[in-house]
Amino acid sequence: MNGGSLQGRRLYIPQMSYEGARCMAAAFQSMGIDALPSPAGDAETYKLARQYLSGDECLPEAVTLGNFLKVTRQPDYRPETTAFLLPTSNGPCRFGHYLPLAKKIFSERGEPVLIFSPSSAGGYEDIGAGARDLVRTAWRAVVVSDILRKLLLWYRPLERHAGDSDRIYHQILDAVCQALALRDVGHRKRLHAVRAALIEAKHAFNAIAIDKQRPLLLIGVVGEIFCRLNTFSNDELVREIEAQGGRVWLSDVAEWVWYTNDEEIINLKRAGRGLSFAMFGCRIRHAVMHADEHALYSPFTDAFPGMEEPRHTNEILQKSRRYLPREGAHGEMVLSVGKTIWYWEKGADGVIDISPFTCMNGIVCEAVYPRVSRDLNGMPIRLFYFDALQHDWSEEVEMFMELAQAYRRRRDR
Ligand code: SF4
Repeated sequence: MNGGSLQGRRLYIPQMSYEGARCMAAAFQSMGIDALPSPAGDAETYKLARQYLSGDECLPEAVTLGNFLKVTRQPDYRPETTAFLLPTSNGPCRFGHYLPLAKKIFSERGEPVLIFSPSSAGGYEDIGAGARDLVRTAWRAVVVSDILRKLLLWYRPLERHAGDSDRIYHQILDAVCQALALRDVGHRKRLHAVRAALIEAKHAFNAIAIDKQRPLLLIGVVGEIFCRLNTFSNDELVREIEAQGGRVWLSDVAEWVWYTNDEEIINLKRAGRGLSFAMFGCRIRHAVMHADEHALYSPFTDAFPGMEEPRHTNEILQKSRRYLPREGAHGEMVLSVGKTIWYWEKGADGVIDISPFTCMNGIVCEAVYPRVSRDLNGMPIRLFYFDALQHDWSEEVEMFMELAQAYRRRRDR
């Protein structure tokens, strides 16, 4: 394994979204690895991270490292039995900076924790025996957590008794994680168990007392993946939108995974490897991923009427082409602009972009959104920047919701 073995260590999974970290920990547990989500963010997160930051780091980096440092405050913390999962990339984005900084921090502290950073470049060989099984279960964990989040966001704005949806969500999450974590079973059996837990989830959410007549504004949410999914980083903006009469349609994680898969194919073609073993391997892997995704989503084909996702990421990229062609612009900015147009076509009343302060994706999108909004008949698009200040957003959201309401009235006239 990369940097040592996970044997005898507890592996902490960074908490981008709570459900995502829980499901990913379950995927590692299915391999017999003692895995848990890293602690959630709070004021201590920034305090701890700040001791090691220069000020150039982005918010997700500070939150991820601060939450790792929170582990060191736990009474049972022992560095020699602790590991942190920290994927990395080579791109220009500061994500590639997390790993060296985490290594530096723990080296300065003189603590022999393992920073575990599996990489796709070597076919995840660093995970060791069973790597392929883990990668497949991890993909299912991504899909399942996306589905659970969608269920929560669909039902919560309509619930008659506050807290019902959150309670069901936590119960179901436990059941789904148990199914993902099953050990010594084949992929088919695990898929069957996870699917059964998801069907239970659907029934449980369906049984919540809701007010179907409650008028809701449909608000699409795009932006930087960590910040839009991490409720601590975005100051629980989704709940604020819901409190002010909105239903949130949040861009999911699978969308990003499919985008990177698609880029992988394009890069192979560009390198003249259109007919290569690498390309063959990609195609097979993507076909398996599609099959698993389809199997997990099949009980939900009619669950989110009016909020259907595109069949392929290319549909989103085609929509952003006019503003940010994928050949010249990369990453989340392309997806955010394309998905904004997708939301508009599906009847959204407004779109909010959640971005960390100083992130290039948000800065580029902010320059493009006024034109996009004009082309979309004035649908309000507003970018909210987040830093570590833990702001009360109620007034800004209220103003945005008024714009969304006015847009809806104009549109439906
Ligand atoms: S996209 Fe922006 S916020 Fe996210 S990791 Fe990269 S630099 Fe940081």
